[in-house]
Amino acid sequence: MQSQTAQSVSVLGSTGSIGVSTLDVLARHPQRYAVHALTARGRIAELAQQCRRFKPRFAVVATEKGAVELRQLLADEASSVEILWGSEGLCQVASDPQVDVVMAAIVGAAGLRPTLAAVEAGKKVLLANKEALVMAGPVFMRALARSGARLLPIDSEHNAIFQCLPQPCASLEEAGVEKILLTGSGGPFRTRAVSDLHRVTPDEACAHPNWSMGRKISVDSATMMNKGLEFIEACLLFNARPEQIEVVVHPQSIVHSMVQYRDGSLLAQMGNPDMRTPIAHALAFPERIDSGVAALDLIAQGRLDFEAPDIQRFPCLRLAREAMDAGGSAPAVLNAANEVAVEAFLEGKLAFTSIPAVIEQVMKSAQVVELTGLDAVETADCNARLQARQVLEAL
Ligand code: NAD
Ligand code: MG
Repeated sequence: MQSQTAQSVSVLGSTGSIGVSTLDVLARHPQRYAVHALTARGRIAELAQQCRRFKPRFAVVATEKGAVELRQLLADEASSVEILWGSEGLCQVASDPQVDVVMAAIVGAAGLRPTLAAVEAGKKVLLANKEALVMAGPVFMRALARSGARLLPIDSEHNAIFQCLPQPCASLEEAGVEKILLTGSGGPFRTRAVSDLHRVTPDEACAHPNWSMGRKISVDSATMMNKGLEFIEACLLFNARPEQIEVVVHPQSIVHSMVQYRDGSLLAQMGNPDMRTPIAHALAFPERIDSGVAALDLIAQGRLDFEAPDIQRFPCLRLAREAMDAGGSAPAVLNAANEVAVEAFLEGKLAFTSIPAVIEQVMKSAQVVELTGLDAVETADCNARLQARQVLEAL
């Protein structure tokens, strides 16, 4: 690249799976990118290590205690990193006028405020944190339209769809798009006997056949709630009607999604399952940069399979469609109930097959309201969490 100054990047959730992959890509292009801020909730020693290597101006942790710990770890360095903590610190480094690009890679609803702050500040926002978009749907999209921020999808499927669409793409209709085919591997339990599913362990659920990811999204992949959240994400990002999106199970995770056009063309984006490809694509868009990912060897790969999803086995897919149809606060309720249920499953307090049951019960009892702003989103989220905890206790 010819530009004189490097782009300044804040990586929210830098110690996570996406955060680490992002730093790997950034490190390959030191002339092109400088790290402005790194943030983490736990794993402070790892964050300290990242600070030594990437020399950000800011590091943000979740608590004051974490800030003290990080300060001590960096005490012997001639380190000029300024340490902040809490949601305010995250919002500050997401919206700082000196920042060009924000990687939103915090997991779950905790990422909503900083991601929205980046959108409102008109940043180039690389969105991995799908939960933020799903829960706040219309509020998020209105903020985007107001600020003119550039939102680029990191989720491999949405990044693939983006790559298969003409850019810019004002409307699917005008672009001649009939359908979006959202692919998913089916996770580790695609072929496991349904009668066994009630006793699968968190470690089994997190052992994804193709992707190495954080534990929450790994469980979401095992229940296919991940595909449900992605279905809502796709409706929002591409302004698609629910019936324009079809989920296709593709166990090899080589085709990352497809777009079907009215002339019979089906465009697919393919690649090895490695998140550094969508990260590099979004970082440099519209240019292409090295991501460190090896080229796909189709001959070695041999075959690609596709099948319809099994709705009986994966009720979360149905629940996500119902939430999208209900609109308003329903996706926020779906997401909050899922986060509580997944956490309980990971703590060994809930059977795998009870995850959808908890979510369904919470959705049945929650009132659907219009999302007028961030407060309404957070109220819906908070109430659904309370309700989910009550359902858990009753079980
Ligand atoms: P992860 O659990 O590996 O990492 C999460 C990061 O967020 C960590 O740095 C953690 O410290 C931070 N964090 C967690 N809770 C926080 C809180 N309350 N406050 C502040 N920071 C907090 O997760 P991941 O797999 O990297 O996923 C991150 C996001 O990207 C998720 O929304 C996920 O759905 C999405 N995503 C991930 C992948 C993948 O391959 N891992 C693919 C597509 C989308
Ligand atoms: Mg995905």
